Amino acid sequence: MAFIELNVLNNEPSPILGIDLGTTNSLVAMWKDGRPQILKPEGHDGHIPSAIYFPENAEQPIVGQAVRERALVDPTGTVFSIKRFMGRGLKDVAEELSSVQFPASENENGQIEFDIRGRMYTPQELSALILMRVHDIACKTQLAGLGRRIVITVPAYFDDAQRQATRDAARLAGLEVERIINEPTAASLAFGLDQMKSGTIAVYDLGGGTFDVSILAIDDGVFRVLATTGDTHLGGDDFDRALAKLAHDDLIDQVGEETAQDSAFQQALRLSAERTKIGLSGHLEAEYRIVIPESSIRYHREIKRSEFEELSKPLIERTLVSCRQALSDAGLEATDIDEVVLVGGSTRIPAVREAVEQFFGRKPHTELNPDEVVALGAAVQGHILSGGTRDILLMDVVSLSLGLETVGGGVDKVIVRNSPIPCQATETYTTNVDNQTGIKFTVIQGERELAGDCRTLGNFELKGIPPMPAGLPRVAVRFQVDANGMLSVTAKEQSTGQTARIEVKPMHGLTDEEVESMLKASYDFAQDDFDNRRAADLRVDIARMCRASRAHYEEAKPALDRETIEDIDEALKAGDEAASSNLPDELQKVRDEIERATLPLAAVLMDAVAKSAMAGKTLDEL
Ligand code: ADP
Ligand code: MG
Repeated sequence: MAFIELNVLNNEPSPILGIDLGTTNSLVAMWKDGRPQILKPEGHDGHIPSAIYFPENAEQPIVGQAVRERALVDPTGTVFSIKRFMGRGLKDVAEELSSVQFPASENENGQIEFDIRGRMYTPQELSALILMRVHDIACKTQLAGLGRRIVITVPAYFDDAQRQATRDAARLAGLEVERIINEPTAASLAFGLDQMKSGTIAVYDLGGGTFDVSILAIDDGVFRVLATTGDTHLGGDDFDRALAKLAHDDLIDQVGEETAQDSAFQQALRLSAERTKIGLSGHLEAEYRIVIPESSIRYHREIKRSEFEELSKPLIERTLVSCRQALSDAGLEATDIDEVVLVGGSTRIPAVREAVEQFFGRKPHTELNPDEVVALGAAVQGHILSGGTRDILLMDVVSLSLGLETVGGGVDKVIVRNSPIPCQATETYTTNVDNQTGIKFTVIQGERELAGDCRTLGNFELKGIPPMPAGLPRVAVRFQVDANGMLSVTAKEQSTGQTARIEVKPMHGLTDEEVESMLKASYDFAQDDFDNRRAADLRVDIARMCRASRAHYEEAKPALDRETIEDIDEALKAGDEAASSNLPDELQKVRDEIERATLPLAAVLMDAVAKSAMAGKTLDEL
């Protein structure tokens, strides 16, 4: 049987992809519908960790997201931070070598080679594995017409050998490099700063393991690097390590020196630290939680943003030293800078943003995700190279966070500010009192912590929830913002499939000035808001505890002594009075007091439940 060869005729040249081959993460973007967009397959955030895991049995290496979990189990089989070795000789990177577990040597061309499970790999070959994965991800999002032509980015300080090595890596991955551009230039392109007639731009890039600051001059759309400096060993990892040290110090007595030195243990500590750090970028407090069932390690600690900021201070200060250096290398003062651009995932840390803003005396660009701007800019360059033009960039993002009012009057943000549209997110809620058959939802817009300080977009009610104890029903609430900025919110009760829905236009009737002042208020009132929110949550908690304690109090009384009863009465009375308090610390005390005082009551009830279970009777019958 013969097969007919299919030739797809396509007059349009394939688009040129933009690739950010990062030390920690790599991303790919493409010009689509008039703007650059990160390519992300369904359910994937588009970040591809620049890491490779080599299984022991010489199976295919694994690249990307899955590697981080593998590293937890087998840290020695993983290769990270390959970018540091690109185009370098052995003696250039003597210090870096300790971070790679595989033996390194130099081949006849003076290139580094790693002996990985019996096969030699150059950094170019390792990077090629990552680039293949990146291209793969891109292919998954595009059904047809995706070519192999790319624009790839490198740090501004990369020399010719490092740039050539990057080119080689792409070639090995079967990709065609149309142009190599500097990361800070790409970031500026993403923000459309090439449209400036002339000006000076500072690009502050704090990634996972490296920090760069570059000063660029722009003249008629052409970028020139005036200065670039930084610290190749300063990045998000250092912030993680600072947090991990806290947990290490707390745990050392419990786990002992030997476990503490174990690299899998340290990896677990650092991964949890990173989660906590990321939590603190969005909240004033986050949990640091480590659970390692095999070694029965359970650790839990609340970290306040202010505590984390204290730990980060020296790290941030080091970046500012480099900024000073870059300015002086360029022969400029901070006041000469016209635009400031933030790049790298670590610039999501609020304290970093504030420090940069203060240092340069102007608000940095934050309209795009800082860890995506380099790939986006590379896609802009790709678009321009393939003959495309563009008007001023449209930046379609959600300008104010969208969420729901909570029982106590707080706000649960479901879609955060600056999420590129279209976007969607789902959160699960439950009932607050027993046998509740309906839930009222109030859709809120704004950055403040209390619903009363935000804008109410609309209300709707989900009815027909089967009567169940509080906390059992599961209601998934989905927020969806379409390409036109229209928000639809759908609530669905899982067991019955009952749904309710509302549609609103969030930006309707809001001027730019109003958005600006809402944002400003959220900064100005951050601490007050946090206290109010905590107070509101505590009041709900206290009311719930009082209700639960009173439910079977009378039946349990005969089993309690006088003193305990007085103690409980007093605590519950304080609980009732707390309903009008707005002082979080006071409320916390009341709450803790109820918890303490009602312990004997809980014990009696537990006892009764146990007995009734054995006797086959219910508590009410006892
Ligand atoms: P690179 O340029 O080094 O490849 P990225 O720009 O992707 O790296 O930055 C990765 C770093 O950003 C990691 O250290 C990660 O923990 C950090 N990061 C990502 N998101 C956040 C966040 N929301 N808050 C704080 N740090 C973050
Ligand atoms: Mg980067």
